[in-house]
Amino acid sequence: MSLTTETIAQDFPKLSLLTGEDSAARQLSFGVNEPCPAMGIARPRSTEELAALVKRCNDEGQPLIVGGGLTNMVGATLAKPEDLIISTELMTGIEEINTDDRVVVVEAGAKLQDVHDAVAEHGLALEADLGARGTATIGGMISTNAGGNRVVRYGMMREQVLGLEVVLADGTVLSSMNRVLKNNAGYDLKQLFIGSEGTLGIVTRAVLRLRELPAHVSTLFLALPSYEAVCSLLRHLDHGSAGTMSTFEVMWNSYYRLVTTPPAEGKPPLAQDYPFYVLAEIGGADKDTTEALALRLVETATEKELIADGLLAKNEAEREKLWALRDDIGQVLQLYPMAAFDISVPLSKMPQYLEDMEAALRAEYPDNRSVIFGHLGDSNIHVIVGPGTDKDEDLHRVEELVYAPLPEVAGTVSAEHGVGLYKKNFLHLSRTPEEIEIMKRLKRQFDPKNILNRGKIFEL
Ligand SMILES: Cc1cc2nc3c(=O)[nH]c(=O)nc-3n(C[C@H](O)[C@H](O)[C@H](O)COP(=O)(O)OP(=O)(O)OC[C@H]3O[C@@H](n4cnc5c(N)ncnc54)[C@H](O)[C@@H]3O)c2cc1C
Repeated sequence: MSLTTETIAQDFPKLSLLTGEDSAARQLSFGVNEPCPAMGIARPRSTEELAALVKRCNDEGQPLIVGGGLTNMVGATLAKPEDLIISTELMTGIEEINTDDRVVVVEAGAKLQDVHDAVAEHGLALEADLGARGTATIGGMISTNAGGNRVVRYGMMREQVLGLEVVLADGTVLSSMNRVLKNNAGYDLKQLFIGSEGTLGIVTRAVLRLRELPAHVSTLFLALPSYEAVCSLLRHLDHGSAGTMSTFEVMWNSYYRLVTTPPAEGKPPLAQDYPFYVLAEIGGADKDTTEALALRLVETATEKELIADGLLAKNEAEREKLWALRDDIGQVLQLYPMAAFDISVPLSKMPQYLEDMEAALRAEYPDNRSVIFGHLGDSNIHVIVGPGTDKDEDLHRVEELVYAPLPEVAGTVSAEHGVGLYKKNFLHLSRTPEEIEIMKRLKRQFDPKNILNRGKIFEL
């Protein structure tokens, strides 16, 4: 039998528990504005408090939804009336910054921006960044294996995690708080919890790897004549900067036009009629040498006719304006009602994929409107499609049309956002039956009563 909020309040008198209107007023997931239907929101303040609550819930078969910053885009934190939400919002501590070990130890509810700010004071950087940095939590980023803007150089969240503390479904606290780069002593259990979207355990603390904060980052904004030029430029900048290129973001003309019409301030930084725009960053030890290198690379790229126009941000304000264009994703609501996608396709197959996908869309939705942008340096694009109708079944059909050609080009239905609820019907397009079966076996082993994020990623 499941618990009630009354029994929880009685048995855990010190627990911060939101119920009734306080709980209903909470947002559940990015873009979802309906009242939260869950029975309540428990907000533990420590691992011990969280573990005791989870143990009790497991004993009673009480389903739980784990909530961090709730910025996921896949319905991963959507709840039902019988669910209890466990939120990490009161576990936000930054416990230790060790400049010799170059690690930061944080609680799961710490917000990304707060961690960036804290470690920057020591000349160090957590090299994970994304647009929701002010709200997204470290626990959520670990559980989704978040990507973002610096993956091309530093890898995804998995690469930043050295150690983890996790509460398992039965309340066991699994402490795996490794803090060294090399540790091959048996299985690296933390990897199981990174990217498993809270279905195998609840992350409570983490040890994260820090790097030296680059003294200067040069930001280039470039217009390109063709997709082939984009691919060549990626290698040109990465090679020419000896691997210090940390960002390679691409906007197709469709996205650039959308975010520069009408222009937010003054005229767009570059004319609106180029096929592609690249936002690239190169880090270095000082301003003069980094800018000189960036400009030399632009010059040689222009000679090779890879670049049609471009500029180098002269200061932080100019850099922020360029990033504001890339991050202005709210503009895609102009296509509403629309379907949004986060897919990966090998760069060599991208033209074929887009041609097939767009032809299929045109055949069924001749009035569709779409925009494309994303972390192309990581083979990851975001595609937004407004089919030109407002029926739910059309949006579902658009999903089928966008996902269908992916297996053929070794692409994936989820590059960085995870599966959650919205993509679980398409998981089979990116994972084999054997892979999905092993995922289910792991889930049954770690959470035999299926209390953690039930029905997310797959149905058991
Ligand atoms: C404007 C904007 C830009 C974004 N840009 C990017 C981007 O560039 N790259 C990218 O990868 N994502 C991006 N996202 C998506 C989102 O920010 C990431 O998925 C992020 O990792 C979610 O963190 P969160 O704390 O909000 O997690 P939530 O949304 O709260 O949860 C996400 C998942 O993790 C689980 N979870 C949360 N906390 C824990 C925990 N402590 N233990 C176990 N499971 C937990 C939840 O149950 C859920 O399954 C963006 C979102 C927005 C709104």
